[in-house]
Amino acid sequence: MTARVIDGVKLAATIREGVAARSAALAAHGIKPGLAVVLVGSDPASQVYVRNKVTACEKAGMHSVLEQYPTEMTQEALLARIETLNADPSIHGILVQLPLPKHIDSHRVIEAIAADKDVDGFHISNAGLLMTGTPLFRPCTPYGVMKMLESEQVVLRGAVAVVVGASNIVGKPMAMLLQTAGATVTICNSKTRDLAWHTRHADIVIVATGKPGMVTGDMLKPGAIVIDVGINRGADGKLCGDVDYASAKEVAGAITPVPGGVGPMTIAMLLVNTMEAAERVLARRTTK
Ligand code: NDP
Repeated sequence: MTARVIDGVKLAATIREGVAARSAALAAHGIKPGLAVVLVGSDPASQVYVRNKVTACEKAGMHSVLEQYPTEMTQEALLARIETLNADPSIHGILVQLPLPKHIDSHRVIEAIAADKDVDGFHISNAGLLMTGTPLFRPCTPYGVMKMLESEQVVLRGAVAVVVGASNIVGKPMAMLLQTAGATVTICNSKTRDLAWHTRHADIVIVATGKPGMVTGDMLKPGAIVIDVGINRGADGKLCGDVDYASAKEVAGAITPVPGGVGPMTIAMLLVNTMEAAERVLARRTTK
């Protein structure tokens, strides 16, 4: 069996077109959805990510601001910038690119972002809302994965799903969204005994570990849906995922490639979240 390839580039383009149409509709009410992206430091990968996010915003007819600061920026100065952005009515979403330099407490910074502008969905109140089944913002990467599963018409109710990786930004919110949709979910981490036993029982396997090629075809149930969130730079300098694509695609029913899978969806869902934030502003205005 050779797996169907789930094309994240194509699906993301369709989602971005939808966002552009919603942006035009909001313009009729005098609202231009605005995203502020804040980068501290000069990490080359982060610089590429933030530029991609800002460009995607502009292409969708949204307002975007990129604020770049040197590594030495103090935590107080960053918190002050966030406070200003929180109060800025032209900004509906605020994203602080992670990781931050070591002298800055990321938790403190994330908690400083107004919860209704937290388009990454990392604020503790947004994590709580997600956990209790009433999300305001769904974290962009897991949200994108859910859209991919929806586009493939994967039945989640009653499905057995295994999420490999338990980070706050991918694994845990991913598991919450799947569980809310009716799947039976196991979350695995680096201490999991016999990972392959878990993955071999799963209808859906989602991998987000940062360990290149760690899930191989022999760890999968034939026909499983495999979503590879990982983005790693291989020894040859090329991007690769956390799934061994060559072996997995011979066993899986459907699989996401890297690049061209989850990555473009993450950016598309950031636009969706910013749009949702701006639409809520309009809704509040019209109910006053
Ligand atoms: P983290 O390093 O924060 O978390 C990794 C998780 O994987 C941890 O829970 C860790 O377990 C678990 N893990 C590590 N090794 C194993 C193992 N051998 N078996 C089982 N679990 C293991 O990573 P992130 O969640 O931030 O990112 C994961 C990957 O996804 C990275 O490649 C990252 O680049 C990529 N990514 C891609 C995005 C996209 O848009 N496509 C967006 C965000 C991330 P433990 O808890 O025990 O330490």
